[in-house]
Amino acid sequence: MANSFNVEGVVIKGTDYGETDRIITLFTKENGKVHGLAKGVRKGKSRLRGAVQLFTHGRFSMVKGKSLDLLTQGEIIDPFLLLKEDLTKIAYASYFAELLRNSCEENKAQPQVFILTLAAFSFLEENMNPELVARFFELRLLHYLGYSPLLEQCSYCGRRIANSQFYMTPWRGGVTCASCMAKNNLSGQRLSAGSIMMMNKLMKTDLSKIGTLKPSAQSLNEMADALAAYWAYYLDGALQIRQMLMDLLGEHA
Ligand SMILES: [Zn+2]
Repeated sequence: MANSFNVEGVVIKGTDYGETDRIITLFTKENGKVHGLAKGVRKGKSRLRGAVQLFTHGRFSMVKGKSLDLLTQGEIIDPFLLLKEDLTKIAYASYFAELLRNSCEENKAQPQVFILTLAAFSFLEENMNPELVARFFELRLLHYLGYSPLLEQCSYCGRRIANSQFYMTPWRGGVTCASCMAKNNLSGQRLSAGSIMMMNKLMKTDLSKIGTLKPSAQSLNEMADALAAYWAYYLDGALQIRQMLMDLLGEHA
């Protein structure tokens, strides 16, 4: 068919539509975020059913439609079954999927974001600390979206990151040292130099070595709060998405 095309993608959302259909949101390697109508997929015999489950990585055939493209065929590459068997992992994967859905434009190729998503899902499956995986995913997604926080020096005086206290100041695009905070009468989320260095490592370390990073519990807490504030500044709805994660973990952790 002239209007058909194939994509490789991950299912990041499914919304029931009509009696038996579902609108599937994919994050694809070729076209970034796309939507496709999977007709009849909620009927018992649909062959598409397995391939359009949440978080499934697969190859999909689509047909261009007037308002909505049709998702006509799906072939599973990796169902991420280990991820789907654990409620904590489901909570984090849902958090990543919602961040993608809300921050990425439709039909904009961002292959690095696609690779990042597969890596984050794999890390969850491999039992990596999910809070570490979340900070890794958030930092790199911010980078690919063009909102990377500057983590090399104070955003006011240029002081290098060394043994002193810093604070996350999203409106400055990065961190600010304690004396500049006091001088300008500012408030923000505290970040030790160690936490900032860990964030730099999460940004730059090769994917195969992310699992060797071992931040302290204090560092994980500081990074979580600082990045929540940073996301809230750059993305409408970020706080609600973080709250969704907290609610899921509160119920099931
Ligand atoms: Zn400073």
